[in-house]
Amino acid sequence: MSAALLDGTAVAQAIRDELREEAAALTAQGRRPGLGVLLVGDDPASAVYVRNKTRACDELGLRHETVKLPATATTAEVVSRVRAFNGRADIHGILVQLPLPKQVDAELVLGLVDPGKDVDGFHAESVGRLVQKRPGFVACTPAGVMELLRRSALPVAGRRAVVLGRSDIVGKPMALLLLHADATVTIAHSRTRDLESVTREADVLVVAIGRPGFVRTGHVKPGAVVIDVGMNRIEDPALAEDLLDETRLAAFRKKGSALVGDVDFKRVREIASAITPVPGGVGPLTIALLMKNTVASAARR
Ligand code: NAP
Repeated sequence: MSAALLDGTAVAQAIRDELREEAAALTAQGRRPGLGVLLVGDDPASAVYVRNKTRACDELGLRHETVKLPATATTAEVVSRVRAFNGRADIHGILVQLPLPKQVDAELVLGLVDPGKDVDGFHAESVGRLVQKRPGFVACTPAGVMELLRRSALPVAGRRAVVLGRSDIVGKPMALLLLHADATVTIAHSRTRDLESVTREADVLVVAIGRPGFVRTGHVKPGAVVIDVGMNRIEDPALAEDLLDETRLAAFRKKGSALVGDVDFKRVREIASAITPVPGGVGPLTIALLMKNTVASAARR
């Protein structure tokens, strides 16, 4: 058996098509959705993420404004930019691109984002609302996974879900969303004993650990739905040889690197019932959900 491929790019496109119409309707009412982005320092990966997000805004007709601060910026400087976005009526969503430079107090900065504009869902008020199952902004990656499951007609109610990874931005909110969708949820992490026997219980296994190809067939119950949140750039030829199929290996040899998930996709797809590829699985949904949160924020005002 070979698993059904869950096409995140197609699902993200469907979400964007819906949002384009919604954004146009809001714009016609004089409420064009707007995203304010704060980019501090010169981390190349962060610059790419920000570019992808502002491109998505352009594609959907959202206003966006990026404030760039140098790597030497102080907490006070970052805070004053957040406050400026908080006070703007034409900015409905605020995104502070992480990571912030070491000297900046990230906790303080994120805590000052207006919870009504917290489209990343990282503010303690947003997290609290999620815990209590009240309406609020939900972190984009786990929200994207739920959309992918829903739109792929993969129900989770009553099923055993295991979330591997317990970060604030993926694992924990993911577990809460699955719980609210009536799954029976286990959270596993680096201190979990006999991990394989825990993950093998999962009807739905969501993996977010940042370890290339870590989840092997031994971790997976045959017929499980496997969602791979991991995004890892690999450069080691031996690892590439192990994890990639012939086509991707040829591309790796030319380029010297490849993007892989946390799951041994090549082998696990042979036993799972459905699986997300990397790239083209969960990744595209994160930005689509950021857009969705921004449009929803504008609609609420
Ligand atoms: P993180 O903050 O580094 O958290 C990793 C989690 O995995 C931790 O809870 C850690 O356990 C657990 N873990 C690490 N090694 C493990 C092991 N060998 N066995 C069991 N658990 C292990 O990572 P994150 O921010 O959640 O990101 C995870 C992955 O998702 C990364 O590859 C990241 O690039 C990717 N990601 C993708 C998107 C997207 O848009 N697709 C968005 C966000 C993140 P402990 O808590 O015990 O240390």
